[in-house]
Amino acid sequence: MISIVAPVYNEEPVLPELHRRVAQVMNELGEPWELVLVNDGSRDRSAAVINQLHAQDPHVKGVSFSRNFGFQVAVTAGLDFATGDAVILTDADLQDPPEVYPHMLAKWREGYDVVYGVRTSREGETWFKLFTAKLFYRLIRRITRIDIPLDTGDFRLMDRRVVNALKRMPERNRFIRGMVPWVGFRQAGVTYERASRFAGQSKFSSVKQMLPFALDAITSFSYLPLQLAMYLGFLMAGLAALAIVAVILLRLFGPSTPLLGQATTLVAVLFMGGVQLICLGIIGEYLGRIYDEVKGRPLYLIEQIWGFDETNGRKS
Ligand code: UDP
Ligand code: MG
Repeated sequence: MISIVAPVYNEEPVLPELHRRVAQVMNELGEPWELVLVNDGSRDRSAAVINQLHAQDPHVKGVSFSRNFGFQVAVTAGLDFATGDAVILTDADLQDPPEVYPHMLAKWREGYDVVYGVRTSREGETWFKLFTAKLFYRLIRRITRIDIPLDTGDFRLMDRRVVNALKRMPERNRFIRGMVPWVGFRQAGVTYERASRFAGQSKFSSVKQMLPFALDAITSFSYLPLQLAMYLGFLMAGLAALAIVAVILLRLFGPSTPLLGQATTLVAVLFMGGVQLICLGIIGEYLGRIYDEVKGRPLYLIEQIWGFDETNGRKS
């Protein structure tokens, strides 16, 4: 059994076409398959469309959240419910073409546990998105120990072993692109051309939408920002020590001057205040996430299920 998992947030116009393209590819392969659609609290008629598709074709299964829980959580629920021996994770908007599945499955049969899609080109994206994405992945590679392959999104095939490993990772702030390499096993890539959206608009185009994702990624996999405070502290203390010596020497041997340097004092105090607030902010980012973990709330709440048993979902 092959599962195809797609998170859905306001994708009403895309879903019938997604189903048609996936069905075409999978029926041609002649393998048993399921299309798992996770409705992440859509405000359009996506739930009704999933309902209709499920009624037409039992290959289509799905769950619907009680509200919008976010992309990473929607994907997590899809992996929790999927029953396949291999699970293919894809966006619902057909940016990841279903025609790539056979190549991924071929690699999987060669014995790879994770086959991720490497984009050779990205159509229909703004230069801002391309630029920030490039910057972000290069940064995260430098400051974490996990090996996130460059130019890959969430489009990937995972063996059941990997899916089971992910199901054992309970964290609330999830960065799946980092969690999959963390798991290990044998990983390979297949290249593909990323298409533009079939319909609708991107939900991740502004800084406001992308920044939380980036912060989750960094705090989940790196302590460097926390250590930065210490490095800065040493640097500042070192500078201050030098300045103390300089001031003493000037006072003893320098020319006698009236009180000078008020502006310097003010600037130094403001600067140090800024540095301290930034360091507090960094600690706050981690602290807030620790608080999320400690509360231990359920990751998602389900309103409706199509074609699955309730017990498939996450226990905690
Ligand atoms: N999505 C979701 N929950 C959200 C935002 C997005 O499930 O809160 C889904 C969306 O329906 C799509 C996928 O995540 O299937 C990727 O979103 P989008 O295509 O807008 O992002 P982009 O491809 O532009 O990065
Ligand atoms: Mg997209």
